[in-house]
Amino acid sequence: MIKLTGKGVYGAVAIGHISFYHRGEVQVKRERVSDTGTEIARFHKARKAAMCQLSALYDKALYEIGETNAQIFEIHQMMLEDSDFLDSVENIIDKQQMNAEYAVAVTADNFALLFSSMDDAYMKERASDVKDVANRILACFGETEQEGIAEGTGLIICADDLAPSETVQLDKSRVLAFVTQKGSLNSHTAILARTMNIPAVIGVGTALDEKYEGKLAVVDGFTGEVFIEPDQHTLEKLRKKQKENIKNKALLEELKGKENITLDGRKIHIYANIGGLADVGAVLLNDAGGIGLFRSEFLYLESRDYPTEEEQFTVYKKVLESMAWKKVIIRTLDIGADKQIDYFNLGQEENPALGYRAIRICLSEPEVFRTQLRALLRASVYGTLSIMFPMIISLEEIREIKGILESVKKELQREGVPYSEQIEIGIMIETPAAALISDVLAPEVDFFSVGTNDLIQYTLAADRQNPKLDRFVDTHHEAVMRLIGYAAENAHRYGKWIGICGELGADTSLTERFLKMGIDELSVSPSFILKVRDQVRKSSCK
Ligand code: PEP
Ligand code: MG
Repeated sequence: MIKLTGKGVYGAVAIGHISFYHRGEVQVKRERVSDTGTEIARFHKARKAAMCQLSALYDKALYEIGETNAQIFEIHQMMLEDSDFLDSVENIIDKQQMNAEYAVAVTADNFALLFSSMDDAYMKERASDVKDVANRILACFGETEQEGIAEGTGLIICADDLAPSETVQLDKSRVLAFVTQKGSLNSHTAILARTMNIPAVIGVGTALDEKYEGKLAVVDGFTGEVFIEPDQHTLEKLRKKQKENIKNKALLEELKGKENITLDGRKIHIYANIGGLADVGAVLLNDAGGIGLFRSEFLYLESRDYPTEEEQFTVYKKVLESMAWKKVIIRTLDIGADKQIDYFNLGQEENPALGYRAIRICLSEPEVFRTQLRALLRASVYGTLSIMFPMIISLEEIREIKGILESVKKELQREGVPYSEQIEIGIMIETPAAALISDVLAPEVDFFSVGTNDLIQYTLAADRQNPKLDRFVDTHHEAVMRLIGYAAENAHRYGKWIGICGELGADTSLTERFLKMGIDELSVSPSFILKVRDQVRKSSCK
């Protein structure tokens, strides 16, 4: 048995036979032409054929995986109409008297290089889109074979990488899963896999070799493991996991579109936690009512330098647009402790979890904070935005934050930049201090969201990163429950709502208890949405 490990993109188990994806090798010849006018016309004929294919693909994707995900094919069409791209191809044909295929290939290489050298993770990913679009045009010159998968069913498609258009064309009646050597969780291919419910493992590296063609394999999309020629024990274990998963998913699927309503008729909001744009597909797939926690620090963690206002604005805007006016709660930068970033130069600390982190950094480095607030306010006109602040311990902090927010708003007004007047402001209740003075804090904000991961660590004096403490840490500890209950009481006393966005929100053995405390919202990982909905519908608040 051979075990490969990568990143699981969609949690499910598939058992099938390995089949390598074969795309027609695009052999581009470099030829001199004399009639450049005819050559330019050939280019445009191929380009138009590619446009037609993309339009058909868009329709297929729209039907199968929804508008947000289908947009990639609109982006590809836009690339085919991009004036820089067209000018470059025509120039190479005209000025260098080269054939159209060569001009397309060289232009695509140059554009791909440009994208891959960008810092922004999203823009980097566009390099593969340019190549994909160019390959489509080249195929339309009629000189390359169509790409494709082998005959038969029960296939586990393996490839170095898969382009979004290749992924969406996979025939789900024959393809059980896919595994790629390369690929990032940010790619559209990964989003598509999640949205199409195809178990997938990406980034397993070059150990994925063509010599395994035809071999039996098991793909575990939960753990990111791939077992080639599995032994009997592994096969049986994963068959069992697969059966349980299918049973659970079928039961939960029936809950899509249903209300989060308790037995005694109270409606609860169930939202999703995300780390970035790439998770939005899963949020929609799992029918979340909104986003309850966007951990914006991942934008900073993925960058080599401070993300600019423009880079942040683009991501926030896309998330808001994708959620189509459903509530999106974006938490401001929460770094420090376990989330260290080189370019912040935070320095060594004796007790980092009790140290210089989250809002403390933002209030000490107002320029960093103001840049994020500007990006958030600018994006607010594209959806229903709430802004949430982490690690709060005092009223003074909230007042200082609100002062900075007001001054950023004034700055935008002076510049004539629009922002929404309806943005809700909330704080995380993740320190015992915040819970204990929640009566003082509630009048100042629109909502509370309980960060149980930190609240447990600070209440029980137990480092959340230290596995040795597991047996000492009771996540249901009465002290933690009382703090949550007290914060809920105070939120409601001032007419504010309260949610839970820490991991405990997905602990269904506590759902009924939370609802009895008056918790109005639970924000959990996308894959737990339906499980929590199920539990809410079986619970009573009385
Ligand atoms: C928490 O502390 O519970 C929380 C949601 O924030 P994070 O896990 O990002 O610290
Ligand atoms: Mg926290």
